[in-house]
Amino acid sequence: MGAQQAMELIIRRARLAEGGVVDVAVSGGRIAAIGALPATLAATTQLDLRGEAWLSAGWIDSHVHCYAASPLYHDEPDRVGIAGGVTTVVDAGSSGADDVADFRQLASGAQTRVLALLNIARTGIRTQHELADLAQIDADAARRAIADHAGFIVGLKARMSGSVVGDNGLHPLRIAKAIQRDNGDLPLMVHIGNDPPRLEEIADLLGAGDIITHCFNGKPNRILTPQGEVRAAVTQALARGVRLDVGHGSASFSFEVARQAIALGLLPDTISSDIYCRNRLQGPVYSLAAVMSKFLAIGMTLPQVIACVTHQAADALRLAGRGRLAVGAEADLTLFTLTDAPQHYLDADGASVHASQHLSPLAAVVAGVLYPTDTWSAEYVC
Ligand SMILES: [Zn+2]
Repeated sequence: MGAQQAMELIIRRARLAEGGVVDVAVSGGRIAAIGALPATLAATTQLDLRGEAWLSAGWIDSHVHCYAASPLYHDEPDRVGIAGGVTTVVDAGSSGADDVADFRQLASGAQTRVLALLNIARTGIRTQHELADLAQIDADAARRAIADHAGFIVGLKARMSGSVVGDNGLHPLRIAKAIQRDNGDLPLMVHIGNDPPRLEEIADLLGAGDIITHCFNGKPNRILTPQGEVRAAVTQALARGVRLDVGHGSASFSFEVARQAIALGLLPDTISSDIYCRNRLQGPVYSLAAVMSKFLAIGMTLPQVIACVTHQAADALRLAGRGRLAVGAEADLTLFTLTDAPQHYLDADGASVHASQHLSPLAAVVAGVLYPTDTWSAEYVC
């Protein structure tokens, strides 16, 4: 980087969650420099966060629903993405082999990076019980879709709760594991909820590369025993490398379970929203930032929370080059504030916690392009 070379974007005096204040320069859509930059370095757009606002690698929401044409759970990618400071959204199974091409086409106009976990049911979530008919799981169709949409499909999704699988018990999960093995061991996200099947039976089938979503749901089939201990099968699964994803959603997040789990040393690997239009507009999700703020309120630190939406999310979904601030990496960044203001947050069961701080996204930067949110302030522009 020569001092004479004009940058596209320079962000000065940005706070980092892990400590310190840095400048970041962007050129050619990539991070050109991180550190204290010369005051003379020129850029098309110059911002100064004055050591007040924060910067991290771009936030990745590992579990959203943003297939706009899906009948049950749908949204626009940019509403759950850049509008909330989120640079990458991962749609968790809204589409299957039959409609992933349509989803990809619809999502291609978004400024937010959109990726998909392919539902093992070829119809995706067109109904609430997509795995109740095993004929809907077509391994050949899944293989063709994964090959046709490499780079867009980054993993698989299987919803393993009673209302979804009907009388099929663990069969859909066994088929999902076979599809995973036949397709390069893609990450497999498994939704848990009401039994059957029981969580122990699900956990026993999972291994490294698999992700349990709705990990802190408050339903009886939760990760904790009635005595408040972590179920042994869950502990064993985590030891094998299974990851925990929050997937807050409309019915799948309990402060009580999250608090107890965290007290037992069980932190989530990824904090995700399971957002779609209804729980975005009417709650209890609202935004990824709101879900992250809930974890600050129950005792996780800012670096822990940011890790769950940056490098840990990139690692869980094997998104090479994402989730880290590094020279040469694609310039995906999130600018945000952490405000001291009393606020109440509700979980999916109607329980509330008092929070003293909350996170607000100021802007998303995707490949070096700045997308301000509603809370952006022109004061930051030099
Ligand atoms: Zn979901």
